[in-house]
Amino acid sequence: MDLTAIKTLDEEFVLHTYARLPVAFVRGENARVFDTQGKEYIDFGAGIAVSSVGHANKRLARAIANQAQNLLHTSNLYFLEHQAKLAQNLINLYHDKMPQTKPMRAFFCNSGAEANECAIKIARKYGKSKNAYKIITLDSSFHGRTIASLKATGQEKMHEHFGPFPDGFTYAKDIDDIYNHLDSHTCAVLLELVQGEGGISPMNKEKIIALSTHLKAKGILLMIDEVQTGIFRCGEIFASKVYGIDPDVISTAKGLAGGVPIGAVITSLIDIFEAGDHGSTFGGNPLSCAAGLEVLDILSEIHKNGTLAKTIESFHNALEDIVKTFPHIFSHKVGLGLMCGLYTQDASMQTRIITSALESGVIVLKSGKGVVRFLPALTITQEEITEGFKRFKNALQSL
Ligand code: PLP
Repeated sequence: MDLTAIKTLDEEFVLHTYARLPVAFVRGENARVFDTQGKEYIDFGAGIAVSSVGHANKRLARAIANQAQNLLHTSNLYFLEHQAKLAQNLINLYHDKMPQTKPMRAFFCNSGAEANECAIKIARKYGKSKNAYKIITLDSSFHGRTIASLKATGQEKMHEHFGPFPDGFTYAKDIDDIYNHLDSHTCAVLLELVQGEGGISPMNKEKIIALSTHLKAKGILLMIDEVQTGIFRCGEIFASKVYGIDPDVISTAKGLAGGVPIGAVITSLIDIFEAGDHGSTFGGNPLSCAAGLEVLDILSEIHKNGTLAKTIESFHNALEDIVKTFPHIFSHKVGLGLMCGLYTQDASMQTRIITSALESGVIVLKSGKGVVRFLPALTITQEEITEGFKRFKNALQSL
């Protein structure tokens, strides 16, 4: 089908929830994608941090195909080998090189919002006996689009049409302001360490460590939303490890199965739920967990052998070079690992830069007001980085 035909069909039959760019992709190869006309793009967006091992990764494709030929789904009524192994692998990777570890358990679902719903339910159950139901989140945060995760999202303009919402969420301006919101009714603080939608600026490490210590002393849960930052995106399995904190709950999703829908929570509150407290029909099924196991294997390898660290360094050097070459367009680079951004001098240029980049054959994304966001596949090669930035420079020159 050509783009016009796809667009006509989409506009007639799909609810208009997305402001789509005028392109449809039909295939990919690591950090390259090809559209309906055969035009090639370097993909610095990776489906918003989902295609962690690149497009059409052979190992992932084989793992998915093998599983599909065996067993796709049985339900959580029965024991599931892949789910149990994926839980073990995630927790072992999180515990790797930690001086002390405590037992943890995982829950699997299908998306980031669902992972945060699970985190919110853990917090509510944890606080129930103390009448502690309040969850503090940050302004400009993004936690999902279900009613509870949308309410947790500290962007009140997004709440406009959908109330009434569940009570018990309050928004702090920044990390310092969280302390002003803590009271005897607070059960948890839910945060992103690098806000994906809120500008890609990493939170201050000392402040996060101090907050973590304070919350532990008060018996208030620290829950880190690693839906975007997790699964090696920031250089380690979770950004929490880069920050040196040990949260009570971590939610994750996007990169975990490389494009097969999945969400997960890992928590040290190992006995918080009883049978029937929470669940999911599809969550943790053999297909998504087989994909997750292969993705973790691939990413652990490039993490261990130093390839990922080299890729991160090279990507950041290329971003620095852009800021130096185009100081009238960008003021500075931000980010952690392969979750990075460039701050525009003039926020109104954001959309033009993204559109011009697409025309020049490179995919970049938006974040917040005025940041151009980069979330490439963690397997991106040096050749793909060089070619992508060459095209990005062309796009900037043509503005
Ligand atoms: N939390 C964060 C930090 C996110 O970036 C996202 C999605 O962009 C979500 C939650 C929601 O994830 P999903 O769209 O998979 O529900």
